[in-house]
Amino acid sequence: MRRLVFLGPPGAGKGTQARALAAELGVPQVATGDMLREAVAAKTPLGLLAKRYMDSGALVPDEVVIGLIAARLAEPDARSGFILDGFPRTVPQAEGLERLLKDLGQSIDRVIVFDVGEGELLRRLTGRRVCPKCGAAFHLVFASPKADGRCDQCGSALIQREDDREETVRTRLAVYARETAPLLDHYRDRHLLSAVSGEGEIQAVRRAIRRAAGLPA
Ligand code: AMP
Repeated sequence: MRRLVFLGPPGAGKGTQARALAAELGVPQVATGDMLREAVAAKTPLGLLAKRYMDSGALVPDEVVIGLIAARLAEPDARSGFILDGFPRTVPQAEGLERLLKDLGQSIDRVIVFDVGEGELLRRLTGRRVCPKCGAAFHLVFASPKADGRCDQCGSALIQREDDREETVRTRLAVYARETAPLLDHYRDRHLLSAVSGEGEIQAVRRAIRRAAGLPA
């Protein structure tokens, strides 16, 4: 089980779990949100285009993210597996992914959806602080950094993502319900979907994911 999709609302913990499992399996974590934020930081034409959508909590157009994923999955390190984190987010993206993988002679092994209630998502997202340098995530209440406002791993000053402000978070949750939730039926119909509760301790969620993906505990 080395070709996995992590699906779920923003703040469900996909990134945290994907980073850890990808490192264990020796496959890349392919997170479109991270790739887009890098493009925004580097002020590339793609980044300038994406920023408008991201700052307001909207989705970046399908063809843009499908293009990013096509280039990323063609890289040698993705040949033996990957964890897709935050992609696909719409039915057209899922269809684009299927076409891409077919051309590569590959297919998805399992799609894991993280269930987390809306109140919990709001608490998590608005308290989230991230390291702009190394991507590590912290939380003001649940996982505060050792030194106030500084990354435990690299010491950089932590920031709040523009799109983690409460109003934007509400938009992102509405966008998830409208555009991404239909993917649950899409993958259920294809017998690829497993649900895990994303509300427990990080280690409990990790074990549930491994079970769902058919990996040893
Ligand atoms: P994330 O870090 O996954 O929460 O993504 C942050 C933002 O990047 C989203 O709110 C979207 O604006 C954009 N984004 C990330 N992944 C996608 C995607 N698969 N499709 C469209 N927009 C995306």
